[in-house]
Amino acid sequence: MSDETTSTGLAQRSLDDDVAIVTGASSGIGEATAEALAAAGATVVLAARRLDELETLADRIESDGGDALVVQTDVTEEDDIDELVETTTDEFGRIDILVNNAGVMLLEPLERAERSNLRQMVEVNLLGLMNLTHAVLPTMQEQGTGHVVNVSSVAGRRARANVSGYNATKFGVNAFTEAVRQEVTTENIRTTIIEPGAVETELPTHITDEQVLEQLAEMEMPTLAPDDIARSIVYATTQPEHVNVAELMVMPTGQE
Ligand code: NDP
Repeated sequence: MSDETTSTGLAQRSLDDDVAIVTGASSGIGEATAEALAAAGATVVLAARRLDELETLADRIESDGGDALVVQTDVTEEDDIDELVETTTDEFGRIDILVNNAGVMLLEPLERAERSNLRQMVEVNLLGLMNLTHAVLPTMQEQGTGHVVNVSSVAGRRARANVSGYNATKFGVNAFTEAVRQEVTTENIRTTIIEPGAVETELPTHITDEQVLEQLAEMEMPTLAPDDIARSIVYATTQPEHVNVAELMVMPTGQE
């Protein structure tokens, strides 16, 4: 947790004594972020619903010399959220970083939207993130240090047709995170909003609307790799403690 100097001569915060919870660690950006934080020295707590994927990732992190703990978690279940926080503090005694990354993107025009899809996006992308942030805050306040990284999206800043439900959740993430930043920044707790552009992951594979799928298939859009976002999260979390990177929009070069 102390600052160290990099080969560039610039100060950087060490993650060596940090404990980091990463939600949505079973694939995509969460998986890459957990690996990157572990490689940077943090002990990582891997949370998502798919246990096999989490255990495979934990084995890989540990065989690379890192420390990982799997806690199967559905972020829409308040009991799971409390258990994730309790298990982490029981096991390690602290929580330094929370990466709220779990998300779903069920794009469809509102007139054809399933209400269950709208509900799921709100419950995973927004309410889950809010509840988990709420659950870790007392621990971070007691420690007098902590960092909440919320994975939003460029869709948290730009609304588009057929994206209304997803847009609403990500605009919500941005507003929630900035308000919480103002509440806790004087207690030495940092918050970061990460707003990725297009990243090559499983995220669009859950879309069922034929028209939206066709539109996506026709779009020739450059994409980032999950590692590119993981690197941004490592950047934000390794800044010296007096530096709060409040917001980062990370687009693929070439995406308008
Ligand atoms: P993935 O589909 O690869 O990952 C989504 C993750 O969320 C999975 O690990 C999944 O795990 C988890 N998840 C979904 N529902 C739940 C739940 N109820 N409880 C716990 N975990 C859950 O997509 P990405 O890596 O792309 O998405 C990660 C984040 O990045 C999301 O918030 C997304 O909105 C955001 N993002 C992605 C972009 C992209 O282009 N890919 C662009 C901008 C933002 P499991 O199913 O095992 O529970």
